[in-house]
Amino acid sequence: MSTARPDRRDPQTLGEASLSVHGGNAIGPAGEGDPIRVPITMANSYHLPPDPATLDWSSPEHVIYTRNTGLNQIALQHKLAALEHGEDALVLASGVAALHAVFFTHVSAGDHVVVSDATYEATYKLWTTLLPRKYGIEATFVDITDLDAVAAAIRPNTRLIAAEVIANPTTEVADVPALAELAHRRGVLLMVDSTFTPPPLYRPLDDGADLVVHSLTKYINGHGDAMGGAVIGRADLVAPIRAEAMVDVGGVISPFNAWLIQRGSVTLPLRLDRHQASAARLAEFLEADPRVAYVAYPGLASHPQHDVAARLLGGRGFGGIMAFALDGDPDLQNRFVAELRVITSAVSVGHDESLIVHVGTSGPRVAAYPEGFRKYGHLRFSVGLEDVEDLQADLTAALDAVLPR
Ligand code: PLP
Repeated sequence: MSTARPDRRDPQTLGEASLSVHGGNAIGPAGEGDPIRVPITMANSYHLPPDPATLDWSSPEHVIYTRNTGLNQIALQHKLAALEHGEDALVLASGVAALHAVFFTHVSAGDHVVVSDATYEATYKLWTTLLPRKYGIEATFVDITDLDAVAAAIRPNTRLIAAEVIANPTTEVADVPALAELAHRRGVLLMVDSTFTPPPLYRPLDDGADLVVHSLTKYINGHGDAMGGAVIGRADLVAPIRAEAMVDVGGVISPFNAWLIQRGSVTLPLRLDRHQASAARLAEFLEADPRVAYVAYPGLASHPQHDVAARLLGGRGFGGIMAFALDGDPDLQNRFVAELRVITSAVSVGHDESLIVHVGTSGPRVAAYPEGFRKYGHLRFSVGLEDVEDLQADLTAALDAVLPR
């Protein structure tokens, strides 16, 4: 934040909470009778100027046709760029659309990428199957916490390193500044998926990442009702993604979802505080119970990258997501989940409500997971905004039901 007088028209002057409230709302001068919030513009086309030939069809600001951009996209992009300290932002229909947009635009046939071996399912599938098969791009999967392994995997034709700040589902933490230094020394771009660490918890661009991707479906929207994705970074890296992967491929977000996400993001800092405080308490509670085989949460001293997480996140918290398993077989994990009465069994993370999903020990990616995950499977637990006492009581009752003391 600068020392200038705070002004909601200039994001640079605002603190974290003010930015989450006002970001993206200051498009155009405000006059009497104007709405104080950007309204939903459910139009797929906009009036053209007298000479349409003068238009830049891929401009981030020219509203022509909603696949090129629209008023709600622009407002959300302004907000996300300000929140992440990026020059430019692009919003798309989902987090996966955003990831694919980066890969499709910045990597071409004959290129090579280095990908973390602990990533969200779709990233794994894109790099094991779809992109190599369709475009002839090679990928090497590495343990992203092993910087020597990352350095050894880089080849002359490596174009990109792709990592998650806190990985889904293992919660491994990528040392973003060290990876950025390594990537730039070798002329490679660093893209990080920061879905588990939204701003103000972490800003990877400040630590040297070239591009940041979010599933807006998760914390940034936060209410479990809309899907979206974003890419944020330097203008010269985001502009070609807008031109190639949005305008020419599609995958555009609906104005309504962009509006919902902008609305949800107003309370992001407040929600994060609650998610993180409850997650820290519940991780300690679960770790102390002998019926629990392991807990993977970056805030625990037992987490292998606890120190890296503390350095990156600078005391602002450790996120709201953990993975754990009970000491037993898959049937026991399923019976435990079935006993829960407050926590919902469903995929996704970062919602207002607590979500848990049981993932077993089979599948190709599990081989790269830590030992506990391989032995017991895992319950991915996204801690919601309910009273932490209710959540702890729910976990206790379910544990007692399936493993009586
Ligand atoms: N990145 C991460 C880390 C995720 O957890 C997810 C979804 O769970 C995605 C990307 C994909 O986002 P979406 O479901 O919005 O396509």
